[in-house]
Amino acid sequence: MPGNLFVVVAPSGAGKTSLVASLLEHERNIRLSISYTTRAPRPGERDGREYHFVDKPRFEGMIAAGDFLEHANVYGNYYGTSRAWIQDELAGDHDVLLEIDWQGARQVRGLFPAMVGIFILPPSLAELRRRLQGRGKDSAETIERRMASAREEISHVLEFEYIIVNDRFEDALSELACVVRAARVSRAQQEARLAKLIDEFR
Ligand code: 5GP
Repeated sequence: MPGNLFVVVAPSGAGKTSLVASLLEHERNIRLSISYTTRAPRPGERDGREYHFVDKPRFEGMIAAGDFLEHANVYGNYYGTSRAWIQDELAGDHDVLLEIDWQGARQVRGLFPAMVGIFILPPSLAELRRRLQGRGKDSAETIERRMASAREEISHVLEFEYIIVNDRFEDALSELACVVRAARVSRAQQEARLAKLIDEFR
């Protein structure tokens, strides 16, 4: 019985990474896919933890070899999801969560129509700008570029099954956990898992 495939998308500054990190602390049996990227590690990031950091020739070689379930160019860098890792995890009845962009989500939906798409929205445009400025690690130009990318990302919000507004962190986290738990008891998941039990009542 394959696990659930959750795909979480948000513009940068919506708080997606913190929400997902907290979700994984609370929910067992859900695994986060570590993407490959050609972007340079940020201070504090470690190879194999936030990303597998690779150079462009290696990434392009992996594309050619069909190693990616999906890949995309985001802010001028390549990002991609390992095909083999996802297939192994799902086949082992583990739920898998991907933190990717809207382009990747579209590709994954083509391959796994049953994926559960979740979009995290910031509470307002002004709040998004405040959060991006508050990080204090990006230049004004980078912030404007990220605001433009955010608008672009958000233009795809209605392609997702679930939309969570991250205003109060605890509320958003609880909504995210509810989506995960609901998917686990969906008919699609339970039908095969509970076949024996359901049979008893026939
Ligand atoms: P960052 O460089 O800030 O970590 O991520 C930039 C963007 O790339 C985010 O929107 C993030 O979700 C997206 N991203 C990260 N990994 C992947 C991936 O494997 N595939 C795709 N399509 N997007 C990714």
